[in-house]
Amino acid sequence: MIKRVVCVSCPVGCEVAVDIADGQVRRIAGNRCPRGEAYARQEAVEPMRVVATSLKVVGGERPLVSVRTDRPVPRRLIPEIMGAVRRLAVEAPVEIGQVLAEDLAGTGARLVATRSVRREGTTGTTAGDPRRQFGERGPAP
Ligand code: SF4
Repeated sequence: MIKRVVCVSCPVGCEVAVDIADGQVRRIAGNRCPRGEAYARQEAVEPMRVVATSLKVVGGERPLVSVRTDRPVPRRLIPEIMGAVRRLAVEAPVEIGQVLAEDLAGTGARLVATRSVRREGTTGTTAGDPRRQFGERGPAP
């Protein structure tokens, strides 16, 4: 079976053909450099993605905080990760870069805030007690 993958490692966008037989990569063609081979091999066997989404904030100046995983995760696990994120609520304040959940769906990936959210009705620093970062539903499973 030939899988065709567009390499996104640089703007050239090579179309790479990955020949797979019995679950094994037999041959890779069309890449112009080794990065493309590595990307196409991963993409054909186990596609990985960074997940970017929003998380509920309790008591914040805004109801949501933007978050992303700190590393790519298997694409097949994204529905499970999104389900865990939907069940999660974090208490304000939230600091940019703050880790809001660990080991999402057993991937080792952490969920990190990509912006800060102050407590409602406050100004100045958003730094808070990390023990209070999780809402009443607790950390992601
Ligand atoms: S194979 Fe190499 S040259 Fe082609 S898109 Fe990927 S990184 Fe760029």
